[in-house]
Amino acid sequence: MSLTAEERRQQLVDLFKEVQRCEKCPLYETRTKAVFGAGNADADLMFVGEAPGAEEDRQGLPFVGRAGQLLNQMLEEIGLARDDVFIANVLKSRPPGNRDPLPPEIEACKPYLFEQVRLIEPRVVCTLGNFATKLLSGSPTGITKVRGTPQVHALGERTVHLLPLFHPAAALRTPAVKETLRADFATIPELLQRPLPGPVPSSEELEELEEEGGSTPPPPSDQLGFFG
Ligand code: URA
Repeated sequence: MSLTAEERRQQLVDLFKEVQRCEKCPLYETRTKAVFGAGNADADLMFVGEAPGAEEDRQGLPFVGRAGQLLNQMLEEIGLARDDVFIANVLKSRPPGNRDPLPPEIEACKPYLFEQVRLIEPRVVCTLGNFATKLLSGSPTGITKVRGTPQVHALGERTVHLLPLFHPAAALRTPAVKETLRADFATIPELLQRPLPGPVPSSEELEELEEEGGSTPPPPSDQLGFFG
């Protein structure tokens, strides 16, 4: 049974509180604040980054450092503001020294992200960089190969348009990456207008089908405060 907007918002607040108390991986010992994510609880567009950095850890908010400023600018260029979207990360706690997330940390934090997708019900999910892209696409293919091309994916029970993008921090380092990110951002408004695809098998279901020797279904067609 589908939830009302108010029920989804309340469950998101409950999830926020759970994340603040989370001790599922050792990162809780070194974080200042858990960074749940922020934005519009009803957003059609969701961004998923990697993990909080130093400034995010201090403020408890995602993308508030230099990479966040670039994200704001790119959003503005396509006529959107942060309040229109929801921004989250693969990890809710900062890895010390901004090191890469470790597989057990990603596994421990993953249910929170899937629950956020279930409750926010976005139409389009933009993954920023390799970690978010590999986690949500269920594929090991790196960001350089897949960026800019939308995919249809089942994230839990929700089927969305997934758009892999370069991470804004990489764009800050390399002007050509910034221009590519800007061009890929420009495709977002059209993607938001595309019809929502029907249910597609999740990557786990596809694997099971292959293991059972069944025929693999055809790839889905492309046709087909905190919380504002
Ligand atoms: N980089 C990320 O991936 N996430 C943030 O919240 C900030 C920087």
